[in-house]
Amino acid sequence: LGNIGSTLSRCVSRRHHQHQSVEVAVPRTPASAARRIRRHLQLPVQRWGACSVSESELEALKRPDFSNWDWPEEKLAVFLRAMFHDLRLTGRLGIGDGALDNFLVQVYQSYNRVPFHNFQHCFMVTQMVYCLVCADQLWLRVPRLELLCLLTAAACHDLDHPGLSNHWQRSAGTGLSACYGPEATLERHHLATAMSLVGRGLLSGLTAQEFRYARRRIARLILATDLARHSAVMAEFQEFFAEARLERSQGIEPLAVMDPERFAGKAKSQCGFIGGVALPMNSALARVLPCATECLLAPVQQQLRHYTDLLASTGSQQAQQAGGSELFSSN
Ligand SMILES: [Zn+2]
Repeated sequence: LGNIGSTLSRCVSRRHHQHQSVEVAVPRTPASAARRIRRHLQLPVQRWGACSVSESELEALKRPDFSNWDWPEEKLAVFLRAMFHDLRLTGRLGIGDGALDNFLVQVYQSYNRVPFHNFQHCFMVTQMVYCLVCADQLWLRVPRLELLCLLTAAACHDLDHPGLSNHWQRSAGTGLSACYGPEATLERHHLATAMSLVGRGLLSGLTAQEFRYARRRIARLILATDLARHSAVMAEFQEFFAEARLERSQGIEPLAVMDPERFAGKAKSQCGFIGGVALPMNSALARVLPCATECLLAPVQQQLRHYTDLLASTGSQQAQQAGGSELFSSN
């Protein structure tokens, strides 16, 4: 959780790994996949009332270095609930406590027992969004409904992830691919699952107009998490900065998307991902949200330095083992 760069890096490493794990048996239909790996744990929602969040815990949740690994999942769900309450997303928007609790239980149950895209990942991403909102006091500039969409989309962005990437879905011709098509297969599935959850309860207190707006916003946010859309998302950022760019008569560097398939070693793939995706994305974000410089950009830059050093030392070791300097100089 230290920074979103490493979270995303791990996300991509995992996907890269999945591409190679072709021996994994994958059910042909989404329904059977979901049943096979659906968690059977129940969150004892009736105990949540007694499970309060202290002031110091709430303060810790606002920090980018909050560690989710120190808490049981039940408590993480209670933390999610505290974030919605702290941002005053319930009462004023017509969302009852019961509707929020039911929504969070359904979110919890809709994440599968997979190595990465599980409930812990859902929590990490939502907590980082909450951290940014708080650090920049975004409620002073952004309507509560927008914040509700942000937090809801973060919590829902990987719902019912089967643990195998879009690339796999397409190559193996899975049921999910048949349902949602070959492009952004998983993101469309996360979105469809999210819509079935929010439509039933969480957003039912909104006016018809607010409800339509929220659905559109959440859809856009979840679909934007498809890494294949990185270039398009960056193009939107560039559009956003066009005015400032004109003023300064200075262009933004074109951005290359990293292709994880091209890279073999972890350090090299981390350097490629962080340099090509995480760094430009977070640099752009930091220009909109000044707080992101400290929360996100600095840790991402630190990670890049770490992996660059690692890559350099790995390269020199390999060069020594190879008995020459050609290998290293080719990096
Ligand atoms: Zn994710």
